Amino acid sequence: MESMHPSEGGWIEAICGCMYSGKSEELIRRLRRALIAHQEVLIIKPAIDDRYEESFIVSHSEQRLKSVALTDPNDILDLAKDAVVIGIDEAQFFGMPLLPVIEKLADDGKRVIIAGLDMDFKNDPFEPIPQILAKAEYITKTLAICVQCGRPASRTQRLTHSSERVLIGGQGVYEARCRKHHTIPQEQ
Ligand code: ADP
Repeated sequence: MESMHPSEGGWIEAICGCMYSGKSEELIRRLRRALIAHQEVLIIKPAIDDRYEESFIVSHSEQRLKSVALTDPNDILDLAKDAVVIGIDEAQFFGMPLLPVIEKLADDGKRVIIAGLDMDFKNDPFEPIPQILAKAEYITKTLAICVQCGRPASRTQRLTHSSERVLIGGQGVYEARCRKHHTIPQEQ
């Protein structure tokens, strides 16, 4: 992917998986390499995700890169005018309006790299990530380690009984589990 230059035509790279699977690390790794190549890079995260600082994308392993926090994904189009590479973390929180935005960016010749949860805590597909996977040229699915058995984990276990889909949290609220050990918490 890196050996191609976006001016030859854009594309979408999607990095998906459960929490703690290394999506942000992989996104940061790719964006760092674009910066080393002196490419103009724009990094976006949804403002809803206030787990850490507003103005950084941060991995659970404390790697970080400066970013812009937005609520409306349409604002990306203006911000991205000079960018060659656009990275978007926690893409699931932008919802379906993100899809036409990243399609337009790729159509305009940009390299768009998005990272997001493919499933919610009930294992339901988490829009717009499944739709982005359908449109993306390149897909990477990252796996975490199941905290119960040490095998590869594809699921996000919610440790509380709240039933809303979006509940921001890290350690103590979510953990990574495999298919066998994941359970859907019963509403109380
Ligand atoms: P994601 O963006 O997918 O939530 P991150 O890139 O933020 O993942 O974090 C990945 C890092 O999380 C790993 O490199 C490791 O240091 C840490 N980590 C904590 N718990 C786990 C786990 N159960 N499985 C794998 N990595 C874990």
